[in-house]
Formats: sequence, C-alpha cells, structure tokens
Amino acid sequence: MRYIAKVLSPGDDWSTRHSVLAIARRTAALINALSADEPTPDAVADVLRAHGEEVSRPLSAHDVCTLRSAASLLREVFTAGDADTAARIINGLLQRSSGALRLTSHGGNTPWHPHLDSDDDAPWDEWFLASSCLALTVLLWDRQRSPGGLCASAGCPNVYLTQGSGPSRRYCSRRCATRERVAAHRRGAGHSPHPPAAHRP
Ligand SMILES: [Zn+2]
Repeated sequence: MRYIAKVLSPGDDWSTRHSVLAIARRTAALINALSADEPTPDAVADVLRAHGEEVSRPLSAHDVCTLRSAASLLREVFTAGDADTAARIINGLLQRSSGALRLTSHGGNTPWHPHLDSDDDAPWDEWFLASSCLALTVLLWDRQRSPGGLCASAGCPNVYLTQGSGPSRRYCSRRCATRERVAAHRRGAGHSPHPPAAHRP
C-alpha cells in the first residue's frame, strides 16, 4: 500500500503533506527524476520517500519503465505554455487514465483525500498519472494559468511548478537562473570579473 505514513515530527503538519501543492511538487520532482538517462529503482524510490510516500516493496525495473511512460505524458502539461493548451492535455490524460473520483484515508493512516486511480493498491504508473492529473487540474482551476513550465535554461530538461500569483517563473532552480544570468551578462558586457548576484528562479 502506498500512503504518507503517519509519522509526526516537530513542526510537521500531517495534513499539509496531502495538499494539492505537495502533490504537484511531487509530480514535478518525479518527472525530473524519471527524465534522467537511466534512473535506478532506488533513485526513484528515494524521490517517492522524500515526498512522503510509503514504498513498502522495492520498485522493479518494470515499475520504473511504466513510471517513465507516465512521466513523459505528464511532461506535456508542463511544456504546454498556456492554460488552454494545458487544460486540453490534462483532459486527454484524465479521459485516458482516471477512474471515478473517490475519497480514501488508506485505512485511517492518512487524512481523507481524493483519488482518481482505481484502487489504493493500483500500479505505480496508474497512481502517478491519476494523482498528478488531479493536482494539476485543481491548480489550473484555482489559478487559471498553466500549472507549470519547462526550464528556460539551455539544455536543462527539468520542469517546475508555476508560482502562486507572483511574476512568471522561467527556471527550474536558482542554479539555472544564476547560470543564465551570468551567461547573459557575459554576452552583454564581455567577460566581467564580477558576475551578477544570484537571483530568484
Ligand atoms: Zn533548469
């Protein structure tokens, strides 16, 4: 069974780990991890655990293969570029992959939350696609903008989540944002001994 274990630590809010944003963050992290050249089952399991998922049985190479297929479908939502296109892609994925909306508490181990997969023990790829589509649907609904984007740094394949109502984000990380700013500075001003300060992604 997969669920976020009811382990409380100081400052940890059990219910926030089930929030839409937490699931959307997990979606982006998994897409990025699964886009690596040859992600190992252990590396993927580490990302799942880092986002609070219970991985009671080791992932198999087949699990990773099917998760990668799901990740490549979900990536299209992040590369859509605008809300209309993202909504069309999410609709296609929902039609293709989701079951009826249901509530589960995983036998009392989690707060009640919605699922679109067929069963609490559904295969990893079905769970990943359905839970991600649900979170991305709610984010698009709530914000009326594309839920995420593709990093604008040349050669970086990572996706990121769009920020709440702030300015549009362009990079997956502070590291990519800084690298691009340094590159732009060098292109514009020649080689300077003082690269610009780090900047918010
Ligand atoms: Zn990047």
